[in-house]
Amino acid sequence: MRPFATVEGPVGSRFAALARGLRGSLRTALDVALPPLCPACREPVEDLALCASCWSKLSFIARPYCERLGIPFAYDPGQGLLSMQAIADPPAYNRARAAVRYDDIARALVHAFKYGDRLDLAPTLGRWTASAGRELLAEADALIPVPLHWRRLWARRFNQSASLAQAISAASSVPVLHTALTRVKATAHQVGLSQTERTGNVQGAFRVPPQGRAEIAGRRLVLVDDVLTSGATVDACTRVLLRAGAANVDVLVFARVVAAAKSAI
Ligand SMILES: [Zn+2]
Repeated sequence: MRPFATVEGPVGSRFAALARGLRGSLRTALDVALPPLCPACREPVEDLALCASCWSKLSFIARPYCERLGIPFAYDPGQGLLSMQAIADPPAYNRARAAVRYDDIARALVHAFKYGDRLDLAPTLGRWTASAGRELLAEADALIPVPLHWRRLWARRFNQSASLAQAISAASSVPVLHTALTRVKATAHQVGLSQTERTGNVQGAFRVPPQGRAEIAGRRLVLVDDVLTSGATVDACTRVLLRAGAANVDVLVFARVVAAAKSAI
């Protein structure tokens, strides 16, 4: 493909398109010849996101959990209870739900999806996430993917949150608003930052552009992201959406970090 890169103008771009097409069909041919690998253990799998052994180790989140934060309780404190954390430090969003705990298997899935060109995982991750967020989706008017800054979008070529939102939309029929929220600040990676640093890092990072206001005013929204860690990013997004007139903001992610079990009060 190297020679095409130096050819410019309309002929060049036609060559580039041809090269892309060829590369695409080559990849398709290879996919047919070689079954995909399990993202977690690299064993070949047939038409599945994970091999049976890794699938059985995936930790799906189910009730009992904090009705606000969606963090699982170690024991069942009874219906409708909130965690200590939700009461002491309530988030800007209304409720959060996640399909699985962010452990080694979930991390492998997210990495394959995000960095490893395994966009074919989207429908499966979307189905699992839609199922975890059934109650939120039943009341939702629209999904809003957590946006990437254009520079990161350029480098990675796609926004994994938007792909996940699209897959959740296919499973739930709730439409996606792709341009109602934008990222105006290229933030540093949140990894290794404290909670306060994370909050500062995403401050002023998101904006609802003028045309987005009409799309979200009075609407019940579900913010979609791949992983929920400290919640600083979705909290910053939620504040911006509520300020711009959204009626409600819930959060739905594929995986969430679950720290030590929180007791209920
Ligand atoms: Zn496996």
